[in-house]
Amino acid sequence: MGTLDGQHALVTGGGSGLGAEIALALAREGARVTIVGRRQEALEEVAAKAGGIAVVVADVTDEAAIVSAFAEATGASGPISIVIANAGAAESAPFARTSLDSFERMIAVNLTGVFLTLREGTRVMAGADWGRLIVIASIAGLHGHAYAAGYSAAKHGAVGLTRTLAAEIAGTCITVNAVCPGYTATPMLEESVARIVKKTGRSEAEARKILADINPGGRLVEPREVADAVLKLCSKESDGVTGQAIQIPEGMFA
Ligand code: NAP
Repeated sequence: MGTLDGQHALVTGGGSGLGAEIALALAREGARVTIVGRRQEALEEVAAKAGGIAVVVADVTDEAAIVSAFAEATGASGPISIVIANAGAAESAPFARTSLDSFERMIAVNLTGVFLTLREGTRVMAGADWGRLIVIASIAGLHGHAYAAGYSAAKHGAVGLTRTLAAEIAGTCITVNAVCPGYTATPMLEESVARIVKKTGRSEAEARKILADINPGGRLVEPREVADAVLKLCSKESDGVTGQAIQIPEGMFA
């Protein structure tokens, strides 16, 4: 018996990194899981690692695609009770050299995508007697992050959306929270490492250390720690936790 037997979770960006880790953790706890992303092959590789994981291809920035992804997931695996708005992307540049295109790309995937996912989640869970909406934001959503104007602005917006929706649905049986990890060992981090190497000529190890040193304790967060926070928010003990932005490692970023 898993703690999430009978629940159906939809995880955006489930084809890699944190989304894959979270999807597999939810499946281990007995939930049926639908993972959503743009690359079918990546999604299917994750689904093949566990039973009970279905795949839907959709772009979270596309309103119609998100509406139909939720409908397809519900049709195939039943009512959705857990939504993880995890899909995201990161680009970086000095503020003065940030192009409008890059800024708008960051807002589209990291903020508009979260809005569309939460809005659809709120619609499909209306009137339910239990539900969890969880945004994978970032410490960049709580603190200024140099060289990441669009990403950091979008993540602040995602935390704002979480708090706003929590105020609106307070008193229902649905909670909404944000998980805000520091630098975490995923493909996104490897892209940041590659950018630093290219722009500064430092080695990969040096670049990884620069990012790890920004985290408390000077180490990268493990994807498992983020999945654990999600499982905790999905537990009965978290029924009263809503509108929170939970830092990983918890409470360690001043
Ligand atoms: P990742 O491995 O690059 O995963 C990002 C996922 O999002 C991919 O599976 C990607 O799949 C999906 N995605 C991107 N754009 C999408 C779109 N328009 N529509 C649908 N899916 C889309 O990176 P990650 O580190 O696991 O990131 C997951 C989340 O954690 C992000 O929101 C990120 O900002 C956040 N986060 C990461 C770190 C870190 O250090 N790694 C720290 C704090 C927060 P497709 O390309 O197939 O669409």
